[in-house]
Amino acid sequence: MQYHVLTTERCNLKCTYCGGTRDIPGVPLDIEYDMKDLADFISKDPEAVIGFYGGEPLLAMKRLEEIMDTVPAKAFTLQTNGTLLDELKDEYLHRLHSILISLDGGREVTDISRGTGTYDLIMRNLNGIRGRGYKGDLIARMAFSDNGDIYQDVTHLLKQFDHVHWQLDVFWSDLEERGDVDGWLNRYDKGIARLVRDFGEAMKKGEVLGIVPFIPIFKTLLTGEGTHIRCGAGVDSFAIMTSGSIDACPIAPELLYSNIGDIRKDTPEGIRDSRRIGDPCTECEILDICGGRCLYVNQTMSWGRELFDRVCASTKHMIDELEKLVPLAGELIEKGVLPSDAFDYPEINNGCEIIP
Ligand code: SF4
Ligand code: SF4
Repeated sequence: MQYHVLTTERCNLKCTYCGGTRDIPGVPLDIEYDMKDLADFISKDPEAVIGFYGGEPLLAMKRLEEIMDTVPAKAFTLQTNGTLLDELKDEYLHRLHSILISLDGGREVTDISRGTGTYDLIMRNLNGIRGRGYKGDLIARMAFSDNGDIYQDVTHLLKQFDHVHWQLDVFWSDLEERGDVDGWLNRYDKGIARLVRDFGEAMKKGEVLGIVPFIPIFKTLLTGEGTHIRCGAGVDSFAIMTSGSIDACPIAPELLYSNIGDIRKDTPEGIRDSRRIGDPCTECEILDICGGRCLYVNQTMSWGRELFDRVCASTKHMIDELEKLVPLAGELIEKGVLPSDAFDYPEINNGCEIIP
């Protein structure tokens, strides 16, 4: 299973999406459990993937090093804002299976939400770790907001990263402060159609563009194999909070549905499949393809049903556009232009939620 391990709740940025350091009652800013308790818990899962998460996880560099030195996980990944990557020592850097770096596209769109100079700093650090010979998967993790242009932003980042993933800036921010959500999503849908066209053109040349949301969805469409919630929250992905408590995912420890257990009392097999997505996703005709998008949204419906349905319409649109390419992909695999495992991504749960 996959475990987000929060090394700290502190952050050195104050992005508009989340506001920086979280101060939540009952959630300490830094790790307060005994490292041996984490090692004991994780050692009971031979398939454990640890994803370092925060806050900004590299602000607690010593904790990250300690965990990599003492906790027996199958793989380690890192989700970071990228500003401190130059401080990560080689011996730990090269053991990371994947690094997800948060930014939103080019300089302008990134700096609007994340602070002036952030884009240049990230790019400097990205080039730095490439220069140090890092061979793992480098993933741009965008938040797509009112300021973005999905086609332009994804296309730009595909030139710098192995893969690009994004999440729509919906359901977290204050709805009152948002402009015309429907108009913004209409523009988004048009950009997605252009990206899918590029995805198809690249396939003809034997290439699979590293657009994270497209690849696993495409695999499902090709094979008909259904999925549960793609981020895995509450099923086979959990968050180990700084207190040692276990949540369905890191995002809402203050909400009851999210509280699962504790590393000192529970076992990995005991918490597996603790939460399942509920209504209205259970009634949805594309549940097997979408998976239910987000457990938090499913449980809270924080922007109301109408906007929930509008976001689902964008998910359906993306799936419909990708479906048009299925016959072509089948043909290309048969002719050997594409290998049969072309859409086997991600190799492990690397922290990408897949459905934006
Ligand atoms: S499209 Fe919407 S309703 Fe359907 S499964 Fe996904 S999130 Fe749930
Ligand atoms: S998609 Fe939702 S449920 Fe899944 S990890 Fe993200 S916030 Fe949590």
